[in-house]
Amino acid sequence: MPEFEFEHAVVGGGIVGSWTALHLVRAGKKVILLEQFSHPHTRGSSHGETRLIRSGYEEPFFCEMMPHAIRMWSELEIEVGKTLMVNTGVIGIAKSPGDMKHYQDTIDNMKKYCPESLDMTDPRIETLFSRLLKFDKVHGVLMDSSGGILLAQKAVLAIQALFRERGGTQWDNSPVQRIEHIGEEEVKLYVDSQRVVKAKSVVVCAGAWTPRLLSPFATLPLQPSAVKVYYWKTKEKGAYTEKSGFPCVLDLGEPCIYALPSYEYPDLVKICIHVGNANCDPDARDKAHFDPKFEKKLKEYVREHFPLLESEPSIVETCMYTLTPDEIFLIDTLPQHKNIVIGSGFSGTGFKNSVSAKSDRGPWDQKRLKIQ
Ligand SMILES: Cc1cc2nc3c(=O)[nH]c(=O)nc-3n(C[C@H](O)[C@H](O)[C@H](O)COP(=O)(O)OP(=O)(O)OC[C@H]3O[C@@H](n4cnc5c(N)ncnc54)[C@H](O)[C@@H]3O)c2cc1C
Repeated sequence: MPEFEFEHAVVGGGIVGSWTALHLVRAGKKVILLEQFSHPHTRGSSHGETRLIRSGYEEPFFCEMMPHAIRMWSELEIEVGKTLMVNTGVIGIAKSPGDMKHYQDTIDNMKKYCPESLDMTDPRIETLFSRLLKFDKVHGVLMDSSGGILLAQKAVLAIQALFRERGGTQWDNSPVQRIEHIGEEEVKLYVDSQRVVKAKSVVVCAGAWTPRLLSPFATLPLQPSAVKVYYWKTKEKGAYTEKSGFPCVLDLGEPCIYALPSYEYPDLVKICIHVGNANCDPDARDKAHFDPKFEKKLKEYVREHFPLLESEPSIVETCMYTLTPDEIFLIDTLPQHKNIVIGSGFSGTGFKNSVSAKSDRGPWDQKRLKIQ
């Protein structure tokens, strides 16, 4: 089999692998990015037009990370000459007393790490509730002025194009079937039974496929889970658009429900419930069984709180989460092989962070993650 030699290999051309490959090539390394499908595809987690970006988080380390992440996204926009972020603001709503800890922690973290993003005087905090949002009582509302929409698929393609421009090698349609650890300075990747890639190290950013690819080395606490993405039609044209000033909405309750102004489909608003409720094999995603109670809850929510939307979704799509037990990313090396690196478990929130991701875990927190 022909052998191809690089300094570093990255497996997975989603947002995490694409950023990783670009950062490596910017550091002057000879890098290959391997993706099993051709781009763009809809089988992983990074497809679709939009993702929410925000600075406010209840976890301090995420809040600390976000101003850097937003700056790096802005720098990317300048470098590629494309709009990749749409700044709409994100309104956070605590609708019951039980949501107040999340609300208060978010405010405290924002005051400490990104005070310029916390805007408690935005007039929309009042006006939105007169027509577009209906809540009998809210206990806390905040506006995260730095937040908005990331143009997901466009960003993945822009990062990959930049990676190639900077001298990186990208192979699409190239499934890595097996990783062989040769030594501390050498790994071999067997690609589609026809080619071998030799490198000093490999970074595995294979999303929902990561646990399977790394199963010869470790049992990782990563749960692939199918999730549904819902779009709801507006009764009044233009009502919930970013152009009319409608922001992203984050309900701070449990499970979290979030809304993005209509963007990818005209007059359809994306409103989803943040639960990975259908554990599944990523290759059999469309056979996943969804617990109907979450869809029911979401329909009731839209009916109750979005008076100018139809109460049945018009479009339902599917995406994949790769969940860790606490939804904090798994960024580490294998304990026995430091040149096999993992960048996965970005759960349902990691697109925005992928540019500058770190995790609050100590190195290889085996006990907490129950890794065997
Ligand atoms: C419905 C939904 C809504 C979300 N909303 C938000 C949001 O609002 N804000 C936010 O920040 N984040 C959000 N996220 C999370 C975010 O999108 C994901 O965390 C992120 O896209 C994960 O990217 P990834 O690169 O880890 O995985 P992927 O995008 O799945 O990339 C992994 C890639 O690896 C490839 N691959 C796998 N195995 C192999 C192999 N053996 N050989 C070669 N290639 C391989 C796959 O084909 C795939 O392309 C959301 C996710 C979903 C599903």
